[in-house]
Amino acid sequence: RILLTTVLDQQRENVKGIAITVQDITREVELNEAKSQFISNVSHELRTPLFNIKSFIETLHDYGEELSVDQRQEFLATVNHEADRLARLVNDVLDLSRLESGRRYNLDAVDLGQAIEQTLRTYQLNAKDKGIEIIQEVEPKLPLVVGHYDLLLQVLANLVGNALKFTKAGGKVAIRAYKLTPHSHKSDRPDRVRVEISDTGIGIAPEDQKAIFDRFFRVENRVHTLEGTGLGLSIVRNIIEDKHHSKVHLVSEVGVGTTFWFDLAVFEEETAVPEKLTV
Ligand code: ADP
Repeated sequence: RILLTTVLDQQRENVKGIAITVQDITREVELNEAKSQFISNVSHELRTPLFNIKSFIETLHDYGEELSVDQRQEFLATVNHEADRLARLVNDVLDLSRLESGRRYNLDAVDLGQAIEQTLRTYQLNAKDKGIEIIQEVEPKLPLVVGHYDLLLQVLANLVGNALKFTKAGGKVAIRAYKLTPHSHKSDRPDRVRVEISDTGIGIAPEDQKAIFDRFFRVENRVHTLEGTGLGLSIVRNIIEDKHHSKVHLVSEVGVGTTFWFDLAVFEEETAVPEKLTV
């Protein structure tokens, strides 16, 4: 975008010249494109379960009497399953748009041990069903961190959920939290706690590792049919990077497993000034 501005002299009477400002609007254009892409993806993703629900209901309505009880049950189970998928999608889209709306989230002292405990409680049964062992290693006397409890629960749930989803029976999922040893030469930086979620699952190929944080991106593979919206990691990235000013990292090897990790600042009493803790 090029802006032409006439430059007037001090008394704003005589035109002294013309200023040319070249403004890079690439980012603006890119953001708009990303937004339309997102809307078109959301519509597409919503259409599939809706279409399935509608066609199964139509079949039940038109031919229900000709079907056996078992067949009818099967149809209803599919409709129910598709409705769940729709609900998950809508929830994830709403979560993401709320996170991106610019709303303020107040950060506070968070007990990560408690958040991890709470997350694992909801996944224990799922892991048992799948024959996956969950390993929990939270350092004793782990300090409190600066964070948003509910948002961090969501991060943990998405990462543990993925780890379980992409790991086969007999595999392991580990969640660790420990304080990093402070570097004396970087004493101005607050102490940090590291949280790691690792699995012995299918792994992520190097060429896919960057894209997995993109909305709706799902690695094309045989597990593609597994439940998921492709929004989980976008939500994780927004919460860790945007709301906690940190970064999500991963190391992964196909067929060996994946580890996601992020650091959070240790909560110090003197940082408990509301405006410092507000993002
Ligand atoms: P989804 O709802 O599909 O899990 P996510 O945004 O959470 O969406 O993840 C995007 C994609 O990244 C997944 O579909 C999968 O291909 C890949 N992925 C995420 N976590 C793992 C993991 N722990 N192991 C292997 N692949 C993973």
